[in-house]
Amino acid sequence: MTAFADRLRDLIALEGPITVERYMGLCLQHYYATRDPLGAAGDFTTAPEISQMFGELIGLWMLEVWHGMGRPARVRLIELGPGRGTLMADLLRAARLMPDFLAAVSVHLVETSPTLRERQKAILEKSGISVEWHDRLEDVPPGPALLVANEFFDALPVRQFMATDRGWCERLVGLDQDRLAFGLSPEPEKSFGNPVRLGDILEWPSASITLAKDLARRLVRDTGAALLIDYGYWGPAFGDTLQALKRHAYLDPLAEPGEADLTTHVDFHRLAQAAASENALVHGMATQRDFLQALGIEARASSLKHRANPAQAEAIDRALERLTAGGDKAMGELFKVLALTHPGLEDVPGLAAHPLIQTRT
Ligand code: SAH
Repeated sequence: MTAFADRLRDLIALEGPITVERYMGLCLQHYYATRDPLGAAGDFTTAPEISQMFGELIGLWMLEVWHGMGRPARVRLIELGPGRGTLMADLLRAARLMPDFLAAVSVHLVETSPTLRERQKAILEKSGISVEWHDRLEDVPPGPALLVANEFFDALPVRQFMATDRGWCERLVGLDQDRLAFGLSPEPEKSFGNPVRLGDILEWPSASITLAKDLARRLVRDTGAALLIDYGYWGPAFGDTLQALKRHAYLDPLAEPGEADLTTHVDFHRLAQAAASENALVHGMATQRDFLQALGIEARASSLKHRANPAQAEAIDRALERLTAGGDKAMGELFKVLALTHPGLEDVPGLAAHPLIQTRT
């Protein structure tokens, strides 16, 4: 047992069972603060770590949206949870096509992990662009914004409720002898109404909803666009999507607290509703495959292959396949893309304005 796991058990022994949300929050804070979890030697691999094409195409998306916004002279380029900084570095490299854009941007990274901040600093120093770090989105100064978040919302803690004959009871993490174990709160949560099917699990991503609303309010007030990419679905849906990943393998989410990545699948419908309730426009959702294909990933792969040796060309094909194919191992269908914008920005590349969720007038 690690020192963190001991502290966690002491806390539960003292205070009683904690919510799944608090468990996720405490574990993830420790997890991200104490390691670089990315890549083959880490716990999981993300799209920007698979291929430079991912960040480059997002850079072109940002360029086009900046044009659509009327080329504001100052724009804040914000990334939530930038990992190793790879996406931002690739994005900025692609944006060199447009010096006016680079002259307009300042980069703002929302990152809580000191370890990952160091990595981001090292990779972005070469870009020559000023970069500031913030703990939270609210700390990023106002102004027109272009924001990207890849695999960020999946890492925000969620509440879970189980359908019982008493109603929706919150799932808790407590102690069974000395081991962590799931339990249920005795009192049901009334605001979700009566469950239909016993055993169903309802996930309530309160932190994500708050963030989507904050983000939407900011875009509506200051203009701009946000591109959210993650594994997830268009709800409503019932089910337990809490998962733990360590060294690229799944494990029991309670087995190694603070030592494994903990995530849930993102319900993009809830994020869209939260943003629309603050009058932002919603675009998408689309699968990552459709989005990247619409942005021209195939042409980008071909042009990279022209300058590649046979081994590099094969690696480019493999990366293209991984980013766009369906199935278990691939990201093309599991990952979805949603954009939020201020109401005046009706066209963004690769995503259709959502027909159901329009701003209220
Ligand atoms: N976007 C990157 C990394 C994804 S991992 C990529 O695609 O490779 C999740 C990232 O979010 C990490 O950088 C982690 O440190 C950061 N993070 C997790 N929870 C956070 C929080 N509550 N606030 C700010 N950053 C957080």
